[in-house]
Amino acid sequence: MVKFSKKLKEALPGNDWNFMGMARELPPEHADVVIIGGGIMGWSIAYWLKKKEPRSNTLRVAVVERDLQYSKASTVLSVGGIRQQYSMQENIQMSRFSADFLRSINDYLFVVNQPPIDIQYQPSGYLFLASEEGAAVLEENVQLQRTEGAKVCLLSPAQMKTKFPWLNTDGVALASYGLENEGWFDPWTLLNAFRRKAMSMGVSQSCGEVTSFNLFTKTIVSDEGELLNCSRIRCVNVQLPDSIEYCPITCAIVVNAAGAWSSRVAEMADIGTGPPDSLSGIKLPVEPRKRYVYVWHSPDGPGLECPMLIDTTGAYFRREGVAGNYLGGLSPTEEEEPDIQDLEVDHEFFQEKVWPKLAHRVPHFESLKVKSSWAGYYDYNTFDQSPVIGMHPLVDNLYFATGFSGHGLQQAPAVGEAVAELILNGRFKSIDLEKFSFSRFIKGTKALEKNII
Ligand SMILES: Cc1cc2nc3c(=O)[nH]c(=O)nc-3n(C[C@H](O)[C@H](O)[C@H](O)COP(=O)(O)OP(=O)(O)OC[C@H]3O[C@@H](n4cnc5c(N)ncnc54)[C@H](O)[C@@H]3O)c2cc1C
Repeated sequence: MVKFSKKLKEALPGNDWNFMGMARELPPEHADVVIIGGGIMGWSIAYWLKKKEPRSNTLRVAVVERDLQYSKASTVLSVGGIRQQYSMQENIQMSRFSADFLRSINDYLFVVNQPPIDIQYQPSGYLFLASEEGAAVLEENVQLQRTEGAKVCLLSPAQMKTKFPWLNTDGVALASYGLENEGWFDPWTLLNAFRRKAMSMGVSQSCGEVTSFNLFTKTIVSDEGELLNCSRIRCVNVQLPDSIEYCPITCAIVVNAAGAWSSRVAEMADIGTGPPDSLSGIKLPVEPRKRYVYVWHSPDGPGLECPMLIDTTGAYFRREGVAGNYLGGLSPTEEEEPDIQDLEVDHEFFQEKVWPKLAHRVPHFESLKVKSSWAGYYDYNTFDQSPVIGMHPLVDNLYFATGFSGHGLQQAPAVGEAVAELILNGRFKSIDLEKFSFSRFIKGTKALEKNII
């Protein structure tokens, strides 16, 4: 086969054409579980499914990813932060699990004959600043975090000044500061570590875009007498890159881990396409929202002791490396939400909205010089900015892991395990994530996290 591939390669134009590589990336005809989206969620779920499969080498898991360069995937465009400081028990528990996982990453994801994994973890506390108005909520959050075992301290403005002399504490009444399990790491390395391990355990990776499903639909009558169309996905259709060809994968279970694009995938299962006031009319409320990250140089800035600082205004920054560079940004208001057609960066947004806030908080940032920038999409849940994890009430073999709205990277190890438990055991075992199920959109009950960045 190698000889055949070599001959073909010589006979055809283009040097990087790889017959075997292409063949390896073709979707399988059948799989037990098809995971749509090969970002951090998709690969974490794939890994945990194989780790937890009841008998080894029995579960056929296929990950389908349309862009193996990951040019627009949130995972590789994120800033890699992990924190314990949340206001919801579930979020604290997930991030605490992830911190333990990352600490022992080689116990989980090491592959024989491959170099050990170094995610370049930078331990550093998050420093959340609160105004007089927000101080009580901050204190309440810290109490809950401590109950969950997180080590977080409260700082008065005077204590902040002693620990961080470069900080202007005007308008700050209280701060919370994480003492362990917080910091940042390299998202690419974590993604590749999950992928490498999952593939070594037999998961297949295919390159292509899922564009439709073959559904089996049955009409049933609900207890209230409403006619409901219940479906099951029989087949996932994958369009191959640069081709009009489709490869169908027949499967038992489908996971929608398509990140910012997951509502499009949901629509393929007719979710949200019914009449507006019906169950089938309820959309998956996840959409791409563009977020800018700016990197600047400030030789006299906070230095090595710089935490990941979250200002009272919502602006954030942290150290980037050790050469006087920092990165940060600010989520726009609803009215300021930028166009999502491309990933162009708006530099005026930095000049007008971000920089004044940074310079107010750190006077040395008055003279900063922006060095680079990028933009990525949050997989933003417009309903309550919390994830959507679990099944859909009308499509009985479709699972979601999406809508993380800016904190999915750090939660991926825990979410992967939770989704694998749900698929294999029919219930959450390690962390109860029922609060994040799709049914809350039907009931209208929000899962509101107060610490969204
Ligand atoms: C600027 C920025 C900063 C962030 N900072 C942090 C942070 O500090 N900490 C943190 O925890 N999180 C952070 N996040 C959020 C985090 O990156 C995301 O929540 C997380 O990466 C989501 O992972 P995912 O796998 O669901 O999505 P993605 O990484 O986007 O992966 C989804 C994949 O699905 C593929 N796909 C979509 N549709 C299809 C289809 N039809 N067929 C095949 N493939 C498809 C896409 O190509 C994509 O690769 C940040 C995000 C951004 C944008």
